[in-house]
Amino acid sequence: RETRLRVVLRVRPLTCTETRRGDRRVVHSLGDGAVQVSAARHDATFGFSAVFDAGASQEAVFEGSGMRQLVEMAMDGFSCTVFAFGQTGSGKTYTLMGPLTQSETQPATPALLGLMQRSFAYLLEQIQSRGSELALSASYLEIYNEQVRDLLSSGPPCALPLRWSKTRGFYVENQLSVDFESLEAIVSLLLQGSQRRRTSAHALNRHSSRSHALLTIHIGSRAVSTCPALGRGPSACPSKQGTLCFVDLAGSERVKETGSSGELSMEANSINRSLLALGHCISLLAKPRGKWTHIPYRDSKLTRLLARSLGGSGITLMVACISPSSHCLSETLSTLHYASRARRVTTRP
Ligand code: ADP
Ligand code: MG
Repeated sequence: RETRLRVVLRVRPLTCTETRRGDRRVVHSLGDGAVQVSAARHDATFGFSAVFDAGASQEAVFEGSGMRQLVEMAMDGFSCTVFAFGQTGSGKTYTLMGPLTQSETQPATPALLGLMQRSFAYLLEQIQSRGSELALSASYLEIYNEQVRDLLSSGPPCALPLRWSKTRGFYVENQLSVDFESLEAIVSLLLQGSQRRRTSAHALNRHSSRSHALLTIHIGSRAVSTCPALGRGPSACPSKQGTLCFVDLAGSERVKETGSSGELSMEANSINRSLLALGHCISLLAKPRGKWTHIPYRDSKLTRLLARSLGGSGITLMVACISPSSHCLSETLSTLHYASRARRVTTRP
């Protein structure tokens, strides 16, 4: 059966800088998943599966976004993906991870933990309560300047080849996959990888992510009970392999606005190019299936890695993030149009 992409919207609060500058709030939640953008020459309403406005807590986003169901589907063997999308500084990393600024001795405030840590906790809790024997491992990659790099392997970052096979689709060769059993272990992998991620400071965000990051949890079932259907021992049972992938996209940005030049502007161009490729794939996928033409997944590494989540057998949640500020109006409208289009995309899990 076909399933639609689930798209929810998060509007972050105005930042101190925006308030100090006297920016107006141009985005208003109307309730029931509707949001209105009203400014001098614009008045538009958009609808989503859910809208979280500035007052929404991290917990409310976790509870209302359908994240729990996604974790459960991954445990049942599906390929599940959640990706955060939006302009630089719109709250993508905050939504997925929360502030990671605390040091090792000072753990992050529990109330501010993002979708990722909450999902990890729920996954481990479910495994325990179901009494299921699941083997867990994690991989963490970034796409920086169109190169795929491993965030978990030690040593200087080196580019990994991205390949395609009939059975696996697009996959990354030689990526490290680290086994884990506890919440502490996976959170520490997340921290370790995030610290290695490429970020730079620029005018819009002091810790702007300059790469797309993909953290994947592999959930393999270890069949322990005997399999009556096959009348053989445990090893004969077919095993399920689910995945839960979190994608923190680098933000779209206008190079002029960020005051970037040299290396920074090269990064921005490669970010923008891959986001454009993603947008292009989404527009084509949003057409009815009968009208599909060729979907150009091969246009960027990002679209290759997301091919299954977007047009294949995955189940996908998209969290569109926006700023409510008048200053970000054009980027906000573009995110909203993009996200609305994504609601028409279907997959066949
Ligand atoms: P992005 O990853 O989209 O570039 P960030 O997640 O880094 O953006 O957020 C930019 C800034 O806004 C950060 O300082 C972050 O703490 C703050 N922020 C984002 N969303 C929220 C929110 N919902 N509540 C409070 N602060 C937020
Ligand atoms: Mg970010």
